[in-house]
Amino acid sequence: MFENADSAAGGGEPTPAELRDLQARADALARDVVAMRERLRQQPGLPRGVLPGTVDDALTRAAQRIGDAADKLARVRAAEWSGSCTAWWGICPRCGPTLQTEDGRSWCRECGTRWGYDRSHGPCTERATHLAMDAQGGTVVVCAVHGRHMQERLDGGLLLAIPTS
Ligand SMILES: [Zn+2]
Ligand SMILES: [Zn+2]
Repeated sequence: MFENADSAAGGGEPTPAELRDLQARADALARDVVAMRERLRQQPGLPRGVLPGTVDDALTRAAQRIGDAADKLARVRAAEWSGSCTAWWGICPRCGPTLQTEDGRSWCRECGTRWGYDRSHGPCTERATHLAMDAQGGTVVVCAVHGRHMQERLDGGLLLAIPTS
């Protein structure tokens, strides 16, 4: 059978877009639950707690988690596309290794730029501009900032600019 990209039951890895769609539906469901509880509340003679507030809380949290998973997947996949920095620790694209991360969000200690996700742990995904080669000949494709940072530590290695044509 042909793979149906629109179906959650379809094979293969889900795309970030599919996860985003699922997140939107969980969000919508959470809102529907709130609306439904409001309607139930307005009916006299119904027992309380038919639809407790924890239901939509749980749905909202689930939507959040699905969204986080979509983010993670998107960043991992973006890093695998050729042309992206493959370093597996984040930097500030302006300042370098100056990131601070707390509660799944990161910011730069130098310039104050903020990211709504944990940028410290995961692929960098900035545009790859350099090829770093260590003394043993191992190579890694990196962005300008990672390249600069690695150059100081490339003992006997090389940092080559990738020609842009
Ligand atoms: Zn910065
Ligand atoms: Zn990088």
